[in-house]
Amino acid sequence: MAVLPAAQIGDLVAAHCRDIADFPTPGVVFKDITPLLADATAFARVIDYLADATARSGAELVVGIEARGFILAAPAALQAGVGFVPLRKPGKLPGVTLRESYALEYGEAALEMHEDAIRPGTRVMIMDDVLATGGTAAAGADLLERAGGQIVGMAFLIELGFLGGRTKLAGRDLTCLLSI
Ligand code: AMP
Repeated sequence: MAVLPAAQIGDLVAAHCRDIADFPTPGVVFKDITPLLADATAFARVIDYLADATARSGAELVVGIEARGFILAAPAALQAGVGFVPLRKPGKLPGVTLRESYALEYGEAALEMHEDAIRPGTRVMIMDDVLATGGTAAAGADLLERAGGQIVGMAFLIELGFLGGRTKLAGRDLTCLLSI
């Protein structure tokens, strides 16, 4: 099946995601992607789009950010015919790790990856569900670059443009299926 054009994939994401007010803390409007994941046709369309973006970027690996990034990155990697690498929350990976700390829209956090997860020079595409303040994605990109990765793209289901996350990712090639 043909990959949907950008405007149509944005409409599809908007139609299948819902807002949950005041989650996980008061004042935050949480973008819940579970209705989209539960719809086989919509989910497949989204993965088609992400896999196509991956193939066009020339990425040799897709990197997913825990946890919802995994749900998108792993099938997109498989469909694009490349491997998948997880960026995990602290203390989850069994081997020697690199760590990057960052500020969230709500709170503080850190990401870890296995220090030997990628060979220097490997072209990588990073994926997550939501681009909010950009702290998570910027930390992921920093981590990948410290490990010697070459970031050829970053993809998000939903960009919350009013939070300005894009400014932390200046110069990166961003794919956002829905920008609001
Ligand atoms: P940020 O670092 O502020 O860009 O936050 C991005 C990360 O936090 C992503 O991994 C998202 O899953 C999650 N996140 C932040 N804000 C939201 C939101 N409003 N709705 C859903 N997830 C969010």
